[in-house]
Amino acid sequence: MIDRRAFLEKSALLSALGFVPRALTLEEYERDVVGASVSPAAGFRGRPCVVASANGIQGVKLAYDRIVGGTDALDAIIAGVNLVELDPDDQSVGLGGLPNENGVVQLDASCMHGPTRRAGAVGCLEEIATPSLVAKAVMDYTTHVLLVGPGAKKFALAMGFKTQNLLTERSRQDWLRWKSRLNKNDNWLDHDDDVKINWTHGTINMNAVNASGDVSSVTTTSGLAWKLDGRLGDSPIHGAGQYTDNAIGAAGSTGLGEMNIKACGGFLTVEFMRNGATPEQAALKTLERMVHMTEARMLDDKGRPRYDIQVYAVAKDGRYGSATMYDGASFAVCDERGPRLEKCAYLHKAAERPR
Ligand code: ASP
Repeated sequence: MIDRRAFLEKSALLSALGFVPRALTLEEYERDVVGASVSPAAGFRGRPCVVASANGIQGVKLAYDRIVGGTDALDAIIAGVNLVELDPDDQSVGLGGLPNENGVVQLDASCMHGPTRRAGAVGCLEEIATPSLVAKAVMDYTTHVLLVGPGAKKFALAMGFKTQNLLTERSRQDWLRWKSRLNKNDNWLDHDDDVKINWTHGTINMNAVNASGDVSSVTTTSGLAWKLDGRLGDSPIHGAGQYTDNAIGAAGSTGLGEMNIKACGGFLTVEFMRNGATPEQAALKTLERMVHMTEARMLDDKGRPRYDIQVYAVAKDGRYGSATMYDGASFAVCDERGPRLEKCAYLHKAAERPR
């Protein structure tokens, strides 16, 4: 430990020798700390690439075509995720999303725009089908970054968004079945007939880079089905559900948001890429960190996670990758070879998944 007197003497000595601490200029910070410039150097040649969760297979094509046509990367990927938000059959996002424990659909979304270093998000937004666009409106029209609950809805209404009932009949029936089976001794008769509830979670994350190396990311979700009223997952949290640094790339996630929030997964993946990892290596290293940050009740006796998370990443030069905890998941990608699903790298074989 250095005491105060020694510290002052040392500081005086350093400043006498000319070592005066001073703030770095933005250029020095980017060169010495970030390791790259946020604004692409003149003549930078990248390749456009869009990467997303598997439910973005149509969205990546739409976004890619728009990026190649000159649309801003964030506007393009938001148009891509709007397809899923407005699809009543995708029960993990927007219209038709599975509701919270009270039967209310509450949506979360966030986005980041690399070239302008701006960000926006909404959480627990009700009755507006496209939270990704409301998140972008927060970014475009306010000095804030995150609005939640009734305030987020008031803001959306002021911006001209229209309300609608987001609870489709199918999602309402799934919620009723869940509720009826909760407790044998309550006043609800059990209805465990037949129908399997296919989804209890899901999300769409989409990240993109254009040919000049400008990067953006967006994530939108109805969050975990049957969640507690007011629960926010990772999707509306910058640095968790998605993250962009225009100097490096972007990353985002789907899966159990609580585990991702603790590891700052979006941010961490971009940091691993900054330190030289490929997008796929970075995604795998982030999953390892999530496991390291996981409480015992969510691990089996071999230390394997009792949950799944997928990480998706794109680098400024157009490289991309994705990883998942257990083998079997795919992700969507579109570049000059067209839209396709590819297999995620994984930490564990599917057979190792705890029962
Ligand atoms: N990440 C989302 C959340 O925790 C859910 C999911 O992707 O499955 O809200």
